[in-house]
Amino acid sequence: MKVLTNLPDYNSGGAIRAFLSERGMGIRKKWGQHFLVNPRARSVLVDALDIKDRDGVFEIGPGMGAMTSLLLEKGARVRAFEIDPGFGDVLRELFSGDPSNGEGDASFTLVPGDVLKTWEQNDDGSPYLLGNLPYTIAAVLVGSLIEKGRFFRRMVITVQKEVALRMAAKRGGRDYSSISVLCASVYDIKPLMTLKAASFYPPPRVDSAALLFTLRDGEKNRTLFAPLVRALFASRRKTAANNLEHFLSVSGIMGSGVRPRDCAKALLSESGIASKERAENLDYRAFNVLADTLEAWIKEPKWKGNF
Ligand code: SAM
Repeated sequence: MKVLTNLPDYNSGGAIRAFLSERGMGIRKKWGQHFLVNPRARSVLVDALDIKDRDGVFEIGPGMGAMTSLLLEKGARVRAFEIDPGFGDVLRELFSGDPSNGEGDASFTLVPGDVLKTWEQNDDGSPYLLGNLPYTIAAVLVGSLIEKGRFFRRMVITVQKEVALRMAAKRGGRDYSSISVLCASVYDIKPLMTLKAASFYPPPRVDSAALLFTLRDGEKNRTLFAPLVRALFASRRKTAANNLEHFLSVSGIMGSGVRPRDCAKALLSESGIASKERAENLDYRAFNVLADTLEAWIKEPKWKGNF
């Protein structure tokens, strides 16, 4: 195990404040900066990834590097996505000197900027992801990774508790939404811990929760899956048939001469879904069948003109 030295004291709000003020830096609310000052929680989260020496990890929002240092100590190769340029400087200073001089750590790569815009061009195929994510980007990032077929072997994600409840929600529940279906479509999700506001500096207004995502074997990326899930949840009070009819008419998928209403009903029927059903009662498998049926119909032009 590698031992890193000269790290800031990550366990005290006062020490973090002093470290930042020495550098003329502050804490930026707009980027959801709340630092996990609970060392036991940090260890539990990093251990849950269960990484081996030289495994690649995407770390989203490393801040001052409290979790980064634990990952590097475990021998991971860390690709750190950080939007705050000041933290970027701190991270470089702590972790990426010139490795040929024995300085710093060749295992650390900083990707500056907004991760929503940078991850695709800077994707080295790392199989693990760790992130304590601001609620403003959490669902968008996780949704877009899944939608684009970028699956990780394991992800440990800490988010505002309400967002965690939505990500891990089961069919039929109050929190079940399009992000629940997207997450369940490729991952088994296990709650790891609830983190009270006092575990962070500065304390946020709400509690947070950490989730472990484990990729199921054999799941494939379906191009129409995410658009269909979003479409069927677009208006929660509407039936599957009504939401699907709207999606078919605006998407231009059907071409001319086909009535969206008839097509929506026939598609649902062939997929084994009652047209009066609501999205909140459909699990990811039902959406898989629907996406496969629609893809088959698009490839097989004979369905055109049948309605
Ligand atoms: N990992 C640290 C920890 O757990 O103590 C800091 C977590 S803090 C909640 C969120 C971090 O994400 C901050 O460092 C913030 O600057 C960064 N961040 C916020 N929005 C981001 C974005 N769109 N892209 C990359 N980093 C972002």
